[in-house]
Amino acid sequence: MTTPAVATEGDPEPRSTFFLYILLIAFAGWQCQSSPASPTHPHLIVKDTIPAGIADTSHSNNGKRKIYLTFDDGPNKGTRNVLALVKAENVPVSFFIVGEHTKMSDWQKTVWDSLQTASGILLCNHSYTHALHNKYSKFYQNPDTVVKDIRQAETELQLKNHIVRAPGRNCWRIGALSYTDIKKSKPAIDSLQASGFTLMGWDLEWHFNPDTLALIHTADEMLQQIDSVFRRGFTQQKGHLVLLAHDQVFQRKEDLAQLKILLEGLKRNSKYELLLANQYPGIGVDSLVLRKR
Ligand SMILES: [Zn+2]
Repeated sequence: MTTPAVATEGDPEPRSTFFLYILLIAFAGWQCQSSPASPTHPHLIVKDTIPAGIADTSHSNNGKRKIYLTFDDGPNKGTRNVLALVKAENVPVSFFIVGEHTKMSDWQKTVWDSLQTASGILLCNHSYTHALHNKYSKFYQNPDTVVKDIRQAETELQLKNHIVRAPGRNCWRIGALSYTDIKKSKPAIDSLQASGFTLMGWDLEWHFNPDTLALIHTADEMLQQIDSVFRRGFTQQKGHLVLLAHDQVFQRKEDLAQLKILLEGLKRNSKYELLLANQYPGIGVDSLVLRKR
C-alpha cells in the first residue's frame, strides 16, 4: 500500500504572501543572485521586532545560533531512512506526524513503533487527516473541524507535548509570537491556540520537486542559505531557525546522502547548536500550562 503523496507545505494559495514578498525584496534590496535559495518566507523580518513577551535568547547561554530540524508528514516511505540517519549522526530532530499515516499499513505501523521507541527525537502533531487530505481551504474554513482533527491526532498518537504544525500553513502561536500566513485560516489557528495548542511554523524550507520528490537544492546550498537567513534576521525569533524538511523526500539514496551532508555540516559548524522543537523559546512554558479544555 502506498502512502498518499502529501503536498508541500507552501501550497499554492498564498498569493498575497507572494506579493508582499516582492515588495519586501524591493525594500530590503534582497540579492537573489547571491543566494542559491530564497527563504521560505523572507518577509518574516523580525530583527529588532521580537514580540513583547518573547525573550531574545539569541545571545543567551552559549551564544550559538539555534537550529531546529523538523520533518513533516511521516510515517511514510522516507521516514525509516531519516530516522536511521539522525540516530547514526546523533542529532536531535523533531518529527511532525500525520495521525492517519501511523496505521495505514503494516510497514507504517512498524515505522511508527520505531519512532516511539527512538531516543533523542521529538514527536509532534501534524494533524490526523492532513487537512482532509490536502483540502486546505475547506479544512481551515471550519475552526471546529480543525481543532477536532488536531485533538484526534494528539489523543490517538498519545503525544507528550502540544506542539502542532498546521498542515499546509506556516502559522505560529507561541506565547506572544503570533503569525498567520494565509489570513482566511486565522480563526481556525486562533481556535487551536485557545484550545491549548502551540503552533510552530518554519523559517526555511528545504524544497523538493512535487512530481519527482527530488530535492531542489543541495545540502551545500542549504548550508549557505541557513547562514544567510541568520545573518539577515529572516527568522521569527532572532538567533533561532526552524528548518522544514519532508520525510518522503529521502527515499532515494542520493537525496539521503544530501541530508547526511547537511547534518554533518551543521554539526561541524561551531556557531550552531541543534535543538528539539520543545526547546524553542516559549514552547516549554506553553507545554507545561494546563490546557483550557
Ligand atoms: Zn504536511
